[in-house]
Amino acid sequence: MFLNQENLYSLPAKKNISLFIFRLFIVVLIVTSVIFYHSIFLITNNAVYAEEIIIPILDYHNFTTEESSSYKINIIEFEKQMGYLAAHNYSVISLSELLAGLRAGQLPPKPIVITIDDGYKSTYTLAYPVLRKFNFPATLFIYTNFIEKNNGSLTWEEIREMTSHNIEIGSHTLSHCNLLKYKKNENYETYLARIRREVFLSKEILESKIGSKVKFFAYPYGVYSPIIKNLVIQAGYEGILNANSMNNTLNTHLFSLNRQIIFGQSSFNSFIRILNQRPFNTSQIFPYDGIIENNQFVKIGAILEDDNYDAKTLSMKLGGAKVKFNFNPKNREISFTPDSLKPLIKKSYIVNITALDKNSQHQRKISWLITIK
Ligand SMILES: [Zn+2]
Repeated sequence: MFLNQENLYSLPAKKNISLFIFRLFIVVLIVTSVIFYHSIFLITNNAVYAEEIIIPILDYHNFTTEESSSYKINIIEFEKQMGYLAAHNYSVISLSELLAGLRAGQLPPKPIVITIDDGYKSTYTLAYPVLRKFNFPATLFIYTNFIEKNNGSLTWEEIREMTSHNIEIGSHTLSHCNLLKYKKNENYETYLARIRREVFLSKEILESKIGSKVKFFAYPYGVYSPIIKNLVIQAGYEGILNANSMNNTLNTHLFSLNRQIIFGQSSFNSFIRILNQRPFNTSQIFPYDGIIENNQFVKIGAILEDDNYDAKTLSMKLGGAKVKFNFNPKNREISFTPDSLKPLIKKSYIVNITALDKNSQHQRKISWLITIK
């Protein structure tokens, strides 16, 4: 049986009209609050989601059919890692896609990037067939002096073939030198002219050999300073990659892309831990990333922003070695000051601070570079 609408709405009594208006008001109120609540919820939900987008950039070097060692990974192990990414619906994207995605603030779900450094022959003979099998893009960071140098290095022909199948080429300088180190008898001017060549000329050589634009630069040994970084930007690179072992977010700057070195001897579980690792939100790190510091007793640390980590699991490392740190739960400052008897050695250190996430138990990590001069 249908309701007769005409009858329902044409009831003449005044009392019924006010009741109707009152009911209408209630309905409108409910609908508006639902819509309002819903949009607020979506906004917050998106914000949380945006913060927690993590973009690991994996960094490999050499591959082998024999046992893995630090910078050489057994190819079966590499294939297992790539298989894991495919099976768990990771979006393996190229660095160019990451560049575009970070500029637009939008990336596919579970984004991840693969990079391979130096230009070893095994990149072509072992890794490339695996990447093709999974149809994964990758970026090779090549130092040009190594190409066609010996049996262990890539040829230009192999590089060109790979570039027509989803492989991008980035610069890793001419000679793979430590860009912070002076050579004997060098003054500031001659040093800077040499570093400039490493950065500018390697780009020109690569571009002429492969016939396309070289957009990315990776520091050899992951070391840099503000001056070096500026040179790389001046040379026209659009993205710069370091070796600070943390994952990136939508807020990571294109000139400070962090990479996770995948060591040959590390376990499959540690590979998965890297994929799930979240960055620490910090309001401050000290001294700043890339600093050339004269004080061998400099206080090093960070102010942690959120309360999403388990403070009992905090750990701090300097150049891979655990240090005894202080943590103030009130202002969330974690810091290490070298012992008056044990000054820091004059070299570059990667500072790592880690803890487990309170809820997910995934690792949180912040990583940056300081150099003691
Ligand atoms: Zn390298």
